[in-house]
Amino acid sequence: MRLIIKDDAEAVGLWAAKYVRNRINGFLEDNWNDIRANGKTFNLGLPTGSTPKEMYKNLVLFCKEGSLSFKHVRTFNMDEYVGLPMNHPESYHTFMFENLFKHVDIDPNNVNILDGNAPDLDLECVEYEKKIEAAGGIHLFIGGIGSDGHIAFNEPGSSLVSRTRIKSLAVETIDANKRFFQGSEVAVPKQALTVGVGTVMDAMEVMILITGHHKAFALHKAIEGGVNHMWTVSALQQHQRALFVCDESATGELRVRTANYFKGLMKVHDKLAE
Ligand code: PGA
Repeated sequence: MRLIIKDDAEAVGLWAAKYVRNRINGFLEDNWNDIRANGKTFNLGLPTGSTPKEMYKNLVLFCKEGSLSFKHVRTFNMDEYVGLPMNHPESYHTFMFENLFKHVDIDPNNVNILDGNAPDLDLECVEYEKKIEAAGGIHLFIGGIGSDGHIAFNEPGSSLVSRTRIKSLAVETIDANKRFFQGSEVAVPKQALTVGVGTVMDAMEVMILITGHHKAFALHKAIEGGVNHMWTVSALQQHQRALFVCDESATGELRVRTANYFKGLMKVHDKLAE
């Protein structure tokens, strides 16, 4: 596991965007023949929420300046609310369109987001897993975490081998997300479709973005506590390539020794995004 500690949320977003650019461009270089002959794509798992917005802003800038293209990228979003119209301002479809897709050169056919209004929600989830598999798996899954340690909508107590399915949101998550619904708990959908912890664990690489004091305890549980289904992000301790990118505020509950250890590796880690 790697932990990258940057000064603030802005620096986290920039670092993460540079890392994604490196991964995509490296993939294009290494797989160009397969991309041309068989339409192979770089498969990217994507989150919503306030944390990744800065990363998306930088990815859009990179596309505009010409150092990045989404032409050979296929995306799979982590989750979507159940029952919220797709064109609702707070749906994750709208979020992704507004923050990324409408600004970059991605083929709309390569965008995958769970349909929270599908007539058969269980089938929608099964089909989503099949789509990921048919695409050849996810190369890089990016996620945020909740202050209760959830990854995607895998709330405390979720199975660490879970797959894409329907989940009820925890009270803490509804409370955190009401800020997007004019502060009204009642307006926040109570269920979501979400990839499972097992779905994220199957990705070749996972990058988690964490910013702010309110996530400090969750970061501590994620990397210093044991693997525990009450803090589902902690499952990543058993992933071969997990990368946590956080700001100083989010390190508030880490042992000084842990933070210093990873800060000592920053010169090495910074090269990953250069
Ligand atoms: P946030 O959400 O980035 O808006 O804090 C993250 C999450 O709940 O996974």
